[in-house]
Amino acid sequence: MPDEPILPIDHPLLSRPSEPIEKVDYRVRELAEVMFAVMDSARGAGLAAVQIGQPIRLIVMDIVDAEGVGHRKAMVNPAIVVRSECSVVRQEGCLSMPGYDIPVPRHEWVVVEFQDIDGRYRSLTATGPLAVCVQHEVDHTNGVLFYDRVSRLRRQRAREHFCKIRRRYATDR
Ligand code: ZN
Repeated sequence: MPDEPILPIDHPLLSRPSEPIEKVDYRVRELAEVMFAVMDSARGAGLAAVQIGQPIRLIVMDIVDAEGVGHRKAMVNPAIVVRSECSVVRQEGCLSMPGYDIPVPRHEWVVVEFQDIDGRYRSLTATGPLAVCVQHEVDHTNGVLFYDRVSRLRRQRAREHFCKIRRRYATDR
């Protein structure tokens, strides 16, 4: 299962919004387990279901907040409901485009509402690296990519880089 392939960043699914999850059942829990395994084996900090070809609103993460507290969580139907006015720019990467980090502007903190893996409604104020991760993964559920948030020049460079490494994905299939 951890061999589940991660879709490359130019895959058309990654540019489309994912479907809401109607019911948090065993299938959602099983998929979350698979996603944690895929994320861990790729040494990532976050993963959206669409990145393994399941276009539904489910994300997982394992990352610290501004206080250094770890958050290993799955979020169903995550929605950012409050955003800080202040922005921060941090180096950011994506498992769909490994080995390429670029500075991306993000809100310093956000409040995210979601259902946990048991279907309970939750709200979390995400700070520090967790805030960046939540914004990155929620973007995936909306079909938005990290390089959509940077200047056209930087996006162009990122795409060129990806064309170079694209062959690696082609031979993996
Ligand atoms: Zn990503």
